[in-house]
Amino acid sequence: MSKKYQHLFFDLDHTLWDFDTNAKETLIELFDRYELAQHGLFEVQDFISLYTENNHALWRAYHLGEISKEALRDTRFKKTFRELGLPEALIPLQFEEDYVKESPHKTNLFAGAHEVLQALQPHYQMHIITNGFQESSELKLTKSNLKPYFKEIFVSEVIGKYKPDIALFQHALAVAGCEAKDAIMIGDSLEADILGAKNAGIDQIYFNPHLQAHSVDCNYEIAHLSELLGILA
Ligand SMILES: [Mg+2]
Repeated sequence: MSKKYQHLFFDLDHTLWDFDTNAKETLIELFDRYELAQHGLFEVQDFISLYTENNHALWRAYHLGEISKEALRDTRFKKTFRELGLPEALIPLQFEEDYVKESPHKTNLFAGAHEVLQALQPHYQMHIITNGFQESSELKLTKSNLKPYFKEIFVSEVIGKYKPDIALFQHALAVAGCEAKDAIMIGDSLEADILGAKNAGIDQIYFNPHLQAHSVDCNYEIAHLSELLGILA
């Protein structure tokens, strides 16, 4: 049986690299390091829930062009601490910088990531397309031992184009030396990965581990990475 695809393009955050678990681990470590429990105002779980809510709201505002990334980073922890009742003078100013610096060192991946990539590697040319930053993407891939599986790594910050921009997919296809019909994109974002790839003429596999309801038409949908082996074998 001949394979339908030659090239696999993977998203990184929330598809291979378990962003939420890695973020949570980092937040717990920093909460302890800054001894935030000692004020008796809030528990680590309250802090994480409110931060997560604020962070999502600020990212939404950023994507709508309402705030800059600098404003987002300057605001998300300070706002959370204020809302939890921490007096201004006790707000740790290094928290944001520490979080951004330390979280990419975390190595939690989605279940089966290494096994699946190992099984696919002899049969496909595999690449990453991430809407990330150069330094943090490099750290995530290196620290979690993902880098050796991939031939090309396309980082939006470096290329200056962001998924779902068709230009980013076309750039990736050109560099990888592959036609759209020979490629498939695997990712967790319906907009960035699935619609982006579809508009570039590339088939798509939607990774939907939380079984979110949606109405986007895609070629395949999986809830666990191991299902890739059934589709791509
Ligand atoms: Mg993603």
